[in-house]
Amino acid sequence: MKKTLLLILLSFPPCAISDGLPDLGDVSQAALNPMQERQVGQQSMREIRAGKMYLDDPEINDYLNQLGYRLIEFSNEPSLNFEFFALNDYNVNAFALPGGFIGVNAGLLLTTESESELASVLSHEIAHVTQHHLARMVAAQKGDSMASMAAIAVAILAARSNPQAAQATMAGVQARAMQKQLDFTRSFEQEADRLGLDILQKANFNTHAMPDFLDKLQRATRLVDGNAPNYLRTHPVTSDRIADIENRVNKQPYRLLADSLDFQLVRTKLIAGQKTAQDAISYFTEALTTRKHGNPIAQRYGLVISLLRNNQVARASQELNTLQQQAQESPASQHDPMLETLAGQVKRAAHAPDTLAFYSKAVLNFPQHRALIYDYADLLLQSNQPETAVTLLTEQITRHPSDTRLYDLQARSYNMMDLPLQQHQAQAYSYAWQGNLMGAIEQLELAKHAGGSFYELSAIESDLRELREMASAQVKK
Ligand SMILES: [Zn+2]
Repeated sequence: MKKTLLLILLSFPPCAISDGLPDLGDVSQAALNPMQERQVGQQSMREIRAGKMYLDDPEINDYLNQLGYRLIEFSNEPSLNFEFFALNDYNVNAFALPGGFIGVNAGLLLTTESESELASVLSHEIAHVTQHHLARMVAAQKGDSMASMAAIAVAILAARSNPQAAQATMAGVQARAMQKQLDFTRSFEQEADRLGLDILQKANFNTHAMPDFLDKLQRATRLVDGNAPNYLRTHPVTSDRIADIENRVNKQPYRLLADSLDFQLVRTKLIAGQKTAQDAISYFTEALTTRKHGNPIAQRYGLVISLLRNNQVARASQELNTLQQQAQESPASQHDPMLETLAGQVKRAAHAPDTLAFYSKAVLNFPQHRALIYDYADLLLQSNQPETAVTLLTEQITRHPSDTRLYDLQARSYNMMDLPLQQHQAQAYSYAWQGNLMGAIEQLELAKHAGGSFYELSAIESDLRELREMASAQVKK
């Protein structure tokens, strides 16, 4: 299994050939191959993850991925790997990195008023990826190493969202070259709109949400003079562009769709996160009493997370009971993993005697919900049950082989079990997936010297060989 893991790390999906699209220049000359694209994307992701803006919330990121994958199915590269992630940035923006990494700002999530609007933005970004738009811009800059290409990718994104600041920090020549590249984006935008709209329609969302959302952003721009949402700068909107979308959409039926509960819970979580715990409690309490702002289940969810944050455990338990009763009455919210995760957190905070039993059942009901898995594994370690944690984590790693948090928890478990070889090995995999090859090699060296069977040691040796090859290949590039 360990060997496959490294093979997955090295393997990349084949690039499908799309046809029938407007010619945007000689792709074969300018574009990176899919493996290079993925590497540039991964390198850029490392910078983003290490930065303050990365929103490390598995529930919000899982939600974006679920919604994203419903759309990818209908793109022209359905087998491509994608990763959607949220940023703790309240500017309205979304962007696509090379290799299928799509970032969505908290500000954009809060500005969308329906799931179809959010889906319309994701579809547009998916089309940027499948058409390799940013990759073409990066390749045109002729970066001579993966690291410099990733730096260029991040710089282009920064330049597109804030041209003045970016130009001040970049050398004049490079800034001018980039400005030239930005001029290409109008044709890219139109292409992303057309393909995005196609995805939106095939995935059965309301296609009218796409022009509605762009229109809303433009109107907001007029109100706040000269302060266009970043999204309009990174995805230049012209009246031609909106007219083009509207023309297509007008022939299609208006679909009235109910938003998923998770769409509302994710937005509620972001609203709560923007406020102090005390302010959030007042906000949701008032919303519930005045019956404002839609869904009462989402509002009470916001109230419970805020109470928990404010250490008001007794009141949180009380409100959770009401929340669960309300959820029981509506088919859409009866079996929601985010509500279940919250219930576990309240139980944990209240030191309820049935907490472990609750989690062991909950992870069987929602084996894909990572927030629940992390919380349960952490609780098992706190309750001095590392063996049970290892069983849970090992099973989860087969589902999510690139999830570094699972390896970190596994390493903690092995440490408690006094199994240094396994501990360092798990830590090595966490580092390898984070792209820290040197750290991974160091951990495997430690594992080797911890002593093990002939079989274990030769597996470590073979991993070490592959990691060293990857590390030297990275240096050469
Ligand atoms: Zn765009």
